[in-house]
Amino acid sequence: MHTLRPMFLAGCALVLLSLAGCAKSAKDRERVSAASGYTPTLEDVAKAYNEACVGGGRESNNCAHYLADAFIRAGYTDLKTSKLITERCKCGAGRAVRSQDLLKWFQEKSLRFHQGRPEANSGFWAAYQEKPGDRHVTLIDTATGKFYGTADCKDWPVQWYYQW
Ligand SMILES: [Zn+2]
Repeated sequence: MHTLRPMFLAGCALVLLSLAGCAKSAKDRERVSAASGYTPTLEDVAKAYNEACVGGGRESNNCAHYLADAFIRAGYTDLKTSKLITERCKCGAGRAVRSQDLLKWFQEKSLRFHQGRPEANSGFWAAYQEKPGDRHVTLIDTATGKFYGTADCKDWPVQWYYQW
């Protein structure tokens, strides 16, 4: 069994590289991740992010919707059934749509918390950003300064970052 595992994981990576963004490959990858017990990295989630939901729908605000979709396609299948998610998208994929719900899910996973913008080259972080009357979630890569989400509200007063 042990000798099979590296080949199995390499196979997963090949599937992701060759079929990224394709709904069918997303379903395949969800199943593979659930079966292997592999924990995807936040970088895996960034690679999976494609500014869409596999259900094809759009909500009035898509930051949590599309980010949840990327987390799930990267392999975080627990997000599909988590009790922390109080509202899900209407397009059939059942993705989380509220930033506050994803915040609670980040906090459940978190191994490291950083208040304020994390320093450069400290890896990928799941971000919760808030200003009076508005909330946002995204993913940032501190090596490149890039974000993976609908926006990066880095000037809003609340800046909470999580890693695991
Ligand atoms: Zn959706």
